[in-house]
Amino acid sequence: MVKVNANYKNLKQNYLFANIAKRVFSYSLSNPEANIIKMGIGDVTQPLTPPVVKALIKASAEMGVKETFRGYGPDDQGYNFLKESIVNYYKSNCGVELYPNEIMISDGAKSDIANFTDLFSNDNVILIPDPVYPVYTDSNIMLGRKIQLIDGNESNNFLPLPYDGLECDIIYLCSPNNPTGAVYTKEQLKLWVDFAIEKNAIILYDAAYEAFISNTSLPRSIYEINDAKKCAVEFCSLSKTAGFTGTRLGYTIVPETLICDGESINKMWLRRQTTKFNGTAYIIQRGADAVFKDDGMKACHEIIEYYKGNAKIMADTMTELGIWYTGALNSPYIWIKCGMDSWEYFDMLLNEIHVVGTPGSGFGRCGAGYFRLTAFNTRENTIEAMNRFLKLFK
Ligand code: PLP
Repeated sequence: MVKVNANYKNLKQNYLFANIAKRVFSYSLSNPEANIIKMGIGDVTQPLTPPVVKALIKASAEMGVKETFRGYGPDDQGYNFLKESIVNYYKSNCGVELYPNEIMISDGAKSDIANFTDLFSNDNVILIPDPVYPVYTDSNIMLGRKIQLIDGNESNNFLPLPYDGLECDIIYLCSPNNPTGAVYTKEQLKLWVDFAIEKNAIILYDAAYEAFISNTSLPRSIYEINDAKKCAVEFCSLSKTAGFTGTRLGYTIVPETLICDGESINKMWLRRQTTKFNGTAYIIQRGADAVFKDDGMKACHEIIEYYKGNAKIMADTMTELGIWYTGALNSPYIWIKCGMDSWEYFDMLLNEIHVVGTPGSGFGRCGAGYFRLTAFNTRENTIEAMNRFLKLFK
């Protein structure tokens, strides 16, 4: 008889966004005239930029011509033209030197983060910040692994740090963080790198929102920290940087110098990917390559600045209202303190001012009493939503 993976029974049902959608739907049924502003789901709203669209069209045309048609991509996970562009991006963006074979292209950060669990034995202790992007927890629960949470809270500005007596083997870090928008400083990341080296642990660093960091003293890559190439993998994505949430492209940096338990993690990840993944489409890799060219970067940054302008409007409103928050300045998320249960706050905002956000409790135990708003809406809607906040709370 077939036996299923019983660990799946330990997953909490992912009711968060379904529950939000249900409440919004039933409210709008009974209040059809309400102009509801949605600042809940972390999906982008602005379209792909013209340089990306041009590259996608050109690559599509190439695929229809015998001489330029491409089949399976190269075995080493990504075309060299894109890997070289990413090498140059790291050099100019944050002064980090990478080799093309340390970069592996994929269909997004979510799959890489979840699939990376394949490389490690089930008896590792996994350290995960709370609150955080739920994929880290769920992908490890599916394997029956022991998870230890490390608390984010107001007193550490939702940036937990290693402490005496902390023991673990695999450390997940997310900066800028989803949902809190909090960003580790170089000094704080150095503490994590030193800790990982001391414990023979590995850091799985999620930099999906690095492009939103404008404060140049903050690290955009963990490799800005000395010795990080000995202990950290970095996950990146064009989803929020370039509007690729529906187009799909991510990349993972696995340094050649990263050795765990005597094994090269770079070689293991390559082996895993060549066995279980047949690569990201050529057309999409050409579109991604356009992101890293001068005109592509400029166009993406115009959109990022637009979202960040929204985030600033939200931050200014919270400051004016005396509401405690993190994020917003170097991130598309603002994480506000509600002073009540997150779901009660959700209902209050929906009923009173028709604004939808995400209850913090959906991201972990430490998210209770907090609330996430995203900057991915239009400027007009953001201004209108914040005017409603001012009216409600003043
Ligand atoms: N990492 C974080 C922190 C995210 O918030 C997200 C998406 O929301 C991802 C990774 C997944 O990105 P992708 O769309 O590349 O799979």
